[in-house]
Amino acid sequence: MTDTTHLNLNLEEVPCPVCGAANHRPVVSAPDFETPYTNLFQVVQCTDCTMIYTSPRPCTDDLFRYFYQDNYVCYTQSGLADTIRENYLCKSRYAALKHLIPENGRFLDVGCSFGYFLSYLQENTLWEAYGCEPNHDMASRAIQKGLSVQAKTLVQAAYPSDYFDLVYMSHVLEHVPDLKETVQEVFRILKPGGLFITENPDVDAPIRKPFGPSWWGYHLPRHLSHFSHDSIRCLLSMEGFDIKHIKPCFRPGPIAWSVQNFLKTKKIPDPVCSFFGVQNPIFVALCGIPALFYLKGGHTDMMETTAQKPLGDLS
Ligand SMILES: [Zn+2]
Repeated sequence: MTDTTHLNLNLEEVPCPVCGAANHRPVVSAPDFETPYTNLFQVVQCTDCTMIYTSPRPCTDDLFRYFYQDNYVCYTQSGLADTIRENYLCKSRYAALKHLIPENGRFLDVGCSFGYFLSYLQENTLWEAYGCEPNHDMASRAIQKGLSVQAKTLVQAAYPSDYFDLVYMSHVLEHVPDLKETVQEVFRILKPGGLFITENPDVDAPIRKPFGPSWWGYHLPRHLSHFSHDSIRCLLSMEGFDIKHIKPCFRPGPIAWSVQNFLKTKKIPDPVCSFFGVQNPIFVALCGIPALFYLKGGHTDMMETTAQKPLGDLS
């Protein structure tokens, strides 16, 4: 049984996605906690620029074939907890963004899933809201709701240059195999002075080391890049952005995920795993206590980076 769930994947060694160096040291070896596959994946750290990344990694075809199926966590809704989370995210996200672009500004949600945030914007704002999402089923659901969504990656979508006031990515950059190309594309399609806001796991989260391979943020093998405040700053600066700020986000969910992953490594049966997991809103709420504590310390499991395309010489 165990042998039948080991995949023979085509793996590829990759250089550091930020600086291109090949030298690295091992960080952790961890499984995928969402599928029955027993493969272990390696996370390494660049010895030149300190960027943490997954290498070797499954080639892109294998990655999408085996790890982005319909049961992928971001493509499913597991009931009340997800509905509460989405409502909270939409309201808090919009409250944080609404003063950043004009009332009739142009907004792009990269990796928009089934368009829940775009729907919220369409109903509550005058923004021209667009989205792209490479999963065809998710994109179709968004398109059926009348949203301006393309079933493509950002690079494939080929939006016009200097077009958007704000490009938003929630948990996308860590997934993309073509990291530099994606960041360069964001830069190209933003208007001068336009903003790029990206939310990503933070490898300096206080719970990363104690949880080891169970830490939610690794999410192997789907997460290919594992950012810190320093490495995301380095990446975006190299591509021409001015970094406005990087701040920790209040998110209790990752703590619940990490606890659940840890219980899975101990072969704790499913009802217990489900109770101490993101499916249980009460447990997630309890995880808000340490999350608040970490927020005050400056590093949580997630960080939000705001970067600006320079205005250039307009004189
Ligand atoms: Zn590097």
